[in-house]
Amino acid sequence: MKIMAVNAGSSSLKFKLIEMPSEKVIVKGLFESISKKNTEENFTSKYKIGNDECNVPIRTHTEAVKILLDYLIDKKIIKSYDEIDGVGHRIVQGGKYFDKSEVITKDVEAKIEELCLLAPLHNPAHLDGIRAFQNISKNIVNVAVFDTAFHQTMAPDTYMYALPYEWYEKYGVRKYGAHGTSHKYVAYKCAEVMKRPIEDLKIITCHIGNGASISAVKGGKCVDTSMGLTPLEGIPMGTRSGNIDPAVLEYMNQIDPEKYTIKELLRILNRESGYLGVSCCSNDSREIEANLDKNPLCNLALDIQYKRIADYIGSYYVHMGGADAIVFTAGIGENSSRLRREVLKRVAVLGVELDEEVNNKVRGEIAEITKPSSPIKAFLIPTEEELMIARDVYEIIKK
Ligand code: ADP
Repeated sequence: MKIMAVNAGSSSLKFKLIEMPSEKVIVKGLFESISKKNTEENFTSKYKIGNDECNVPIRTHTEAVKILLDYLIDKKIIKSYDEIDGVGHRIVQGGKYFDKSEVITKDVEAKIEELCLLAPLHNPAHLDGIRAFQNISKNIVNVAVFDTAFHQTMAPDTYMYALPYEWYEKYGVRKYGAHGTSHKYVAYKCAEVMKRPIEDLKIITCHIGNGASISAVKGGKCVDTSMGLTPLEGIPMGTRSGNIDPAVLEYMNQIDPEKYTIKELLRILNRESGYLGVSCCSNDSREIEANLDKNPLCNLALDIQYKRIADYIGSYYVHMGGADAIVFTAGIGENSSRLRREVLKRVAVLGVELDEEVNNKVRGEIAEITKPSSPIKAFLIPTEEELMIARDVYEIIKK
């Protein structure tokens, strides 16, 4: 069975075609700068499928999907569109409606649309991706895989904000979290690596990429996570501030009401804060690490984040009544030995004994980075969000 995992952004479409149940990746790729502004003569769009790269005008997600499927036929990877048994679409916001993946019916589509208000940058783009596949073939089963689903097991005292209750009842204001597919994958993988039943384990998962979040996973269920109503809450990230005192907004607005409107302030908190805001240098951890000590603000940007990650780990340790393992994943978690070392140093008091030598060596592969004597184990586990998506689609189609 051939399953395609798709992540559609506002101007991009990433995909992986996976053979199931063998879980072998057949081909992967990316379409970029999809825009109605692209013309035959003047365009910025391009795609990469496998090792082939091509600059062509791509105006819509439907055009991208057509190029993709025709490429697969041309390369004899599939004989017809119908050979794609299912497409799993990553959906950032599933709100309170979805605690698991669902076949996309008219009703599911309407709910994803309704939730655009909570994820204005993501859900509309996901809908473009879904509709592109619906436009191209009526026979492909489309499945929605929600980033929020894994977090639906949080208790009310964890997902509620101490705000007027009516905001929750009427408008759904609460913590939903994000990166759920990744947190679930690495937590279950960690249990597998530890050769222990997930039901017996308390795991803290740190998904640290350009976007970053931390989850507490007890007995295989998420009991807390750092992102909130939107991905802005939690630890500082590449360009997002993470938690701040909300009164900062009014304060800055008073300083310059014309410049600092709510909309502009939120744009700054989402796009010009975090690593980028503090370092005045870059949102990319590689560039920040390369400029350490030359630019003290780069040190500060990382130190703020490390401290906040340690705060969350401490808090989740208390919330779960201990921890068996801490897992690092995503772009920075998998590649930056410095981040792992600096965070684990700050939580050593809980009983974490880092093996510096192993930690310095490993990157992008499963590894235990604590000493055998360490009461709490720490691991590097590369995330496989697309594989999780393909597994969900496979299970749904099999039924
Ligand atoms: P997102 O999916 O949220 O866009 P990623 O998980 O791709 O983010 O992570 C992007 C971050 O990971 C960037 O800050 C980048 O510097 C870092 N990163 C990616 N690859 C490497 C690498 N090989 N070495 C160091 N850092 C890396």
